[in-house]
Amino acid sequence: MAKARPFSPDRGSLLPSRALAIRLHPPGERAIREGHPWVFDGSIRSVDASGPPPQAGDVGVVFDRKGRFLAVGLYDPDDPIRLRILHAGSPRKVGAEFFAQRLRSAMERRAPLLRNGSRERGYSETNGFRVVNGEGDGLPGVVLDRYGESFVLKLYARSWLARLPELVDALVQIMAPRSLLGLVSRRLAADARCPAEMRAGALLHGSDPGSALPFLENGFHLEAHPLEGHKTGFYLDQRENRQRVEEEARKLAWDHDGLRILNVFSYSGGFSLYGARGALRGAGENRHAPVEVTSVDVAGPALRQAERHFEMNGEQVGRARHRTLEGDAFRLLGDLDRSGDRFHLVVVDPPSFATRQDQEAGAIAAYSRLTRAALPLLESGGTLVQASCSSRVSPDSFYRVIRGEVRRSGRQMDSERRWGHPLDHPVGPPESEYLKCLFATIR
Ligand code: SAH
Repeated sequence: MAKARPFSPDRGSLLPSRALAIRLHPPGERAIREGHPWVFDGSIRSVDASGPPPQAGDVGVVFDRKGRFLAVGLYDPDDPIRLRILHAGSPRKVGAEFFAQRLRSAMERRAPLLRNGSRERGYSETNGFRVVNGEGDGLPGVVLDRYGESFVLKLYARSWLARLPELVDALVQIMAPRSLLGLVSRRLAADARCPAEMRAGALLHGSDPGSALPFLENGFHLEAHPLEGHKTGFYLDQRENRQRVEEEARKLAWDHDGLRILNVFSYSGGFSLYGARGALRGAGENRHAPVEVTSVDVAGPALRQAERHFEMNGEQVGRARHRTLEGDAFRLLGDLDRSGDRFHLVVVDPPSFATRQDQEAGAIAAYSRLTRAALPLLESGGTLVQASCSSRVSPDSFYRVIRGEVRRSGRQMDSERRWGHPLDHPVGPPESEYLKCLFATIR
């Protein structure tokens, strides 16, 4: 089982508090004035540094043509995003105090999540959520997720490695985590200059939390696995859509006396649990109404975690029958159709099929195939839930693809609802918007 290795970022290597003076070409200046947090290499006119050559993590101060302060950010001479803006407008000192302020505002924004608790039990029913969503929270390249008493920090830019001691200080001061784990993006892990501990998953503060971090989401007991390579260990971004699936299942079960739900690309069964709870509530007094949930994923460990999640929440979903199917979703959807399986609710939440612009066409083709394969499995009057987490596919193209497939199938779609980012995943610049989810009734 993977284990986080203790790691103290070397304070001795903290960069000197010099600042690089940066001047930009006009489009770069304009982008900053419009609030864009990224300055690309091509926008840079000059970088003035006294002393040693600029290093990743140096503070860059941008001045306009007239020499007035424009913005301050973190510089990296080797990153196509040369500067990630932390603050624009008036001069500010970058350091632990600044990071602490950003963390405080991020927490204020998420206060509604902590209020959804159960008063009489005296705790919130949700203590797993994203605390910092990079650009959307004014800390570009930084993600911080909370899972109960543990926090997972994930860095997406090398410049942050040099600022890690200050960032950890701020995190410990504001969040008082029992454990703080550190991860890096795949791109950063491929960089030989990234410390081995951060590449493998580092224990940055507190006690070793073990490989499964327990947390609560809307009353469900869940576990995140930060060292296993999916985001920070759980798909927190789908929480609001999971709640919507619960509500949809509740209504459908009320109408149908029981329910059959299919969750494709289930990972650890998030949508399956909510679907089951909704359907059981909808079936209400009718304790014999059958509620069946099928979770499909290519990853065996993810399905075993889904089973474990059903066991951990037996009180709430124990009356539902949960089955798992391991294998390729495209093939299994065909198998289900041939064997005559039909469902009232189908959730399709695939991985991102496009991380680069040139993969967009392939991703769109994959979304089409999935809709085409899901439609025959849906009972008339059932609900299709289909999501996309690729920022390379625009909401417009995504919804157009689904509508096109429904039309071609001769079915009809109504009460279409479209959802974007949840409260704890605020969107930064347009490029950082990725999540789209459609709910529609199919007749
Ligand atoms: N819906 C999930 C998140 C899905 S992430 C949630 O809410 O938690 C995407 C999942 O798709 C991963 O678990 C991955 O193992 C799975 N996957 C990727 N390719 C697949 C394929 N071809 N067939 C089935 N599952 C696949």
